[in-house]
Order: sequence, then C-alpha cells, then structure tokens
Amino acid sequence: MSDVYAEAYRQARDWLDGLDTAPMGARLSAPELQSAFEGPLPRTGQPADKVIRFLAETARPGLMGNAGARFYGWVNGGAVPSSLGADWLVSAWDQNAALSTVSPVASAIEAVAGKWMKALLRLPEEASFAFTTGCQMAHMTALAAARHAVLADIGWDVETDGLMGAPPIRVFTSRNRHGSVERALRYLGLGTNALHPVATDEMGRMRPEALEAEMIAYQGPAILALNAGDLNVGAFDNFADLIPIAKAHGAWVHVDGAFGLFAQTSKAKRHLTAGIEKADSWATDGHKWLNVPFDCGMAIINNPDAHKAAMTLNADYITATPNARDPIDWNLEWSRRARAIPVYAALMEMGAEGVEAMIDRTSAHCRALIEGIGALPGGEIIACSEINQGLVRFVRAGASEAENDAFTETVMQAVNASGEAFFTSTLWQGRRCMRVSVVSWRTGTDDVTRSLGAIKQVLAEKL
Ligand SMILES: *Cc1c(COP(=O)(O)O)cnc(C)c1O
Repeated sequence: MSDVYAEAYRQARDWLDGLDTAPMGARLSAPELQSAFEGPLPRTGQPADKVIRFLAETARPGLMGNAGARFYGWVNGGAVPSSLGADWLVSAWDQNAALSTVSPVASAIEAVAGKWMKALLRLPEEASFAFTTGCQMAHMTALAAARHAVLADIGWDVETDGLMGAPPIRVFTSRNRHGSVERALRYLGLGTNALHPVATDEMGRMRPEALEAEMIAYQGPAILALNAGDLNVGAFDNFADLIPIAKAHGAWVHVDGAFGLFAQTSKAKRHLTAGIEKADSWATDGHKWLNVPFDCGMAIINNPDAHKAAMTLNADYITATPNARDPIDWNLEWSRRARAIPVYAALMEMGAEGVEAMIDRTSAHCRALIEGIGALPGGEIIACSEINQGLVRFVRAGASEAENDAFTETVMQAVNASGEAFFTSTLWQGRRCMRVSVVSWRTGTDDVTRSLGAIKQVLAEKL
C-alpha cells in the first residue's frame, strides 16, 4: 500500500510551513471551488494517497489563513503545536468519547482537562462541565440546565413533562448578546419571544438599575444572560453588580464568554470579569482564544444536579465504571470525538502562565494595530478594548459618513486582496467599521508591523 499517511503529513506540513508567505485570505470563492470538486459520485475507487493529494491540491487556493499570523477576521484562532499534534492523534486513535467503558482514555483525559480548565478560568472547583463542539452548543447545554433548574424551582419537571403547559421563562439579556444565545433558546423550545432586552449604556453593557427594576416588575422563572467580551468592542457586563441582583430574584445567571472569559486567566485583565465566578453557568470556546483546533467549546455549570438531570441518559447496554467520568451524562451527544485531548495538550504545553502570556500578548498586538492604524493618514480609531478586539474606520477629509462607510470597505478589501493580512467588517452604531481581532498564538510584533505596512500602502494608493 502506498503511504497515504505520509502524503497527508507532507501536505499538512507544507501548508503550515508556507503560512508566512501564503495569502491570509482565500483566493477562490465557494462556488468557484465547488466546480473543482464537482463531478458524479465515483462508481469505482482510487488509491488513498491519490485522494489525499487531490484534496490538498484542489483545496489550497480556497483555504483561509487563520492558522497563520496575520489573520484578524471574525474570532478565528489558530492552534498551538501540541494541540494540533494531539488532534492528529485523536483522529488516528478514533476513540468514541461517549462513555468510560467505550474509551477509558478519552474519559480519563476529559476528567482532568475539565478540572484544569476550571482552575485556569478561576471558576468553582465543584462545577460540572461538558466539552462541546463550540460555544453554540455550550449555550445549549448550559441553558438546558438553566431551564431544568428554574422550572424545578416552581415544581415543573421539564424533562418528563416538556414545555407544553409549562409556565413561561423570561430571559433577560442586552443588545450585545450573540446570535447563538438566541438560537439556543429556539432549540430549547423557549422561543425568541422569551428574550427580554434590558437597557444598556453606550457600549452595550447592561445597566444594573434597569435590571433591578425589570426583575422587581416580573416575578416568574427567569434566566439572566450576560456577556463577557462582545465581538465589536470587547465590552464586559458588570458582573459584580448584575449577578447579585438576579440571584436576589431567584434567576439563573448564564455568561457568554466565548473568548472574553479568558480575561480570567490574566492578572492584568481580570478586573474586567470581577464577580463572574458567582454566575451559575459559563459558555466558552477552546477553538478561539485558547488556540486549539476547531470543534471545541465548553460549558461549565455550577449546579451538577441540574446539568446531569438535563443531559443524562440510560440504556440497557450502558455499564458504568465506578468513579469514572461518563461524558454522555453531561453532553448533548452520544458518540463523539475526544475533543478534550487537544485541550489537555495545549494546557500542558503552555501552562497557566503561557496562556496568560498569550492573552496579554494578543491583546497588546491588537492595541498596537489599532493605534498604528489610527496614526496613518485616513485611519480613525472607533474603539480599542482592553482585550483583543477593536474597531477602526478609513475616512477621507470632507467625505460623508456613507462615503466613508464605502471607503472603509474598499480599503479593507484591498488589504485582504494583497494577501498580507485579512480583516472583516461590521456595522457598529450605524457606521461601517473594520474589526481588528487578534486571536492567534502566532501573531508577533513583526506581523503587526507587516500588517500596518500593507494598510499604509493601500491608503497611499486609495486616499
Ligand atoms: C463565536 C461566538 C459564539 C459562538 O461560538 P461557536 O464556537 O462558534 O459556536 C458565541 N458567542 C460569542 C461572543 C462568540 O464570539
């Protein structure tokens, strides 16, 4: 047999080694790529190594560079080396991380990785956890536990009786909430009408006095959904003031901390998340700021009974090992990937100090990029957070807001086309802005300089 694994390794290695010179954005669109992959279902097979070579070579011009150092689009991180290596082993081992008897090693490593993550994020040791596909499914897991708990408090068993005829649950949120929270409410049968927006300040942070007034006016089962780090300006809700208000009214407090929860890992940033440990549940991602490969989120829930009641499952052919972790009790899934293993590897490689250094470093690079853009002719700073997110705009003297919206988009597209860096845009408070999001462990000072050089050159041509 030809060595298909050597071919796969060679192709992967070639991609990784070329990231310094590769364009950071894809050069072909999805429809253009599809025609290259298109064809009738193969009737007969072909050698595995040929399949891998075809895949790698055809995919190349369509690959996004988020594994590289100058990719600032969305919140797409890279993968620290041990986590990528561990991910390769996870695929080779092909373990089913559903139950301890089905994969003892997946169960054992997940148990430790969960403990380590709680310690890293300074969340209660006694909390239960689940490794999910991402933050979206972490919301589902945590909000299912919340749904159980707030309905159990008024004598309703949602797992047995469902939601039909159940008292409605109100979900207090702010306009900064991520769409994944809304979608979790849809999946959970609570519906988007359950959402009840609370007044915010100019950065979208929930106003404590507004929450208090709303909670006094409403006396039913409630969930408060807060944000640790919004996508545009990295705003954090005021946990120290908001959580006690919700608790006094019997509400469950859930935090969306997809990346912002990692402020907890840093002495310099921890003031942003003060009081966050008093919440009932937290959703976060491994595949963003922790820099492990995609397919990794985490729900942490400070009510193991509600968590287990919402997720557990019994079947005749399941046998439990005493004192072992059975992921199926904590997860939405049955058969699943051993996705805690790359987390374990990343934490071993970096240690808590290495994670803290990465959080501080990427935040500093984000600030340097934003300030550097602000110092260029035509560059304007809109927001610079204390973490790794911020907003800029490109403006021409005397131009209207609408013209500068278009100019911002034009400059960004030209920078992306240069391949030197990749950014994405957003509409913030009615204005088109370019987002600066530094999530990769790879980004260094030289990359900041090089990215600013590319922007400067585009501005020199377009201004
Ligand atoms: C990315 C993100 C999510 C969704 O996470 P996935 O891992 O993509 O499922 C939720 N909330 C925030 C704030 C995010 O940035």
